[in-house]
Amino acid sequence: MTLETVASDSKAASMDISASIKPVDQSATGQEVVFSTRDLSVTYGSTLALAGVNLDIYKNRITAMIGPSGCGKSTFIRCLNRMNDLVPGVKVGGQVLYHGVDLYGSDADPVEVRRRIGMVFQRPNPFPKSIYDNVAFAPKKLGLSGNMDERVERALRGAALWDEVKDRLKRSALSLSGGQQQRLCIARAIAVEPDVILLDEPASALDPISTSAIEDLMHDLKTEYTLVIVTHNMQQAARVAEMTAFFSLDLHDDGTRNGILVEYAATDKIFTSPSDERTEGYVTGRFG
Ligand code: ADP
Repeated sequence: MTLETVASDSKAASMDISASIKPVDQSATGQEVVFSTRDLSVTYGSTLALAGVNLDIYKNRITAMIGPSGCGKSTFIRCLNRMNDLVPGVKVGGQVLYHGVDLYGSDADPVEVRRRIGMVFQRPNPFPKSIYDNVAFAPKKLGLSGNMDERVERALRGAALWDEVKDRLKRSALSLSGGQQQRLCIARAIAVEPDVILLDEPASALDPISTSAIEDLMHDLKTEYTLVIVTHNMQQAARVAEMTAFFSLDLHDDGTRNGILVEYAATDKIFTSPSDERTEGYVTGRFG
């Protein structure tokens, strides 16, 4: 089974999955689960970065990852589209199920995974090409069908950038402001019709007005996509996310430390009545 099938019909695809994979849990609220990680761990060389993460991510929701620096938030979301594969010496343990399919199983094609599950990084990273060519690049490379002008316009509209750039599509993407460049990167992700968009600190290099534009855009995007955001900004998580995962560092007697998921719940619970005192310490600013 390929991920192509998953995206077009996840229900049918899940029927083909090998019997060894357990069915995806539905949440208590019955929301559809997009990702389910099972005892996920990541090791870089001989250093354990993240251990024992069990977490479900829901369709058409914004899920935020918060926690102190170095606790594995980026490592975690890079597992969701196999971006960590690109790091030499990385080892991913446990499972990441995407619509019930093991992303690290032998049938999963990493290129197709990254098409279905797009990523936007901390620093806007447009190619030194025109605005149009930035958006058209991946669809062309993947040989996606349909009218390219329409695809580019749709993606730029989806990223709330069309009105600002429609008269200068042939100009260099590098002529745009930082906030516009970040929305262009979101347009680039949308252009290949993904299912999920992962955002790793997407606004931390931007000014407050551009940050606000990105947050508004995320609200609009969640009707069509599932969004997962890493943010060091707790207010941002509280503003945009329905679900929040708090990661922290587990310290061992031998001096080593690794990232763990401490608590995962609806955002208002994490910020107003967390179950774990470590979460409370972090969100109240007493620790971290
Ligand atoms: P966060 O996003 O919470 O700041 P990271 O996922 O970036 O945390 O990092 C978690 C741990 O993994 C840190 O100790 C970091 O040094 C290590 N790490 C992250 N990326 C790499 C890498 N490419 N190679 C080696 N170690 C890494």
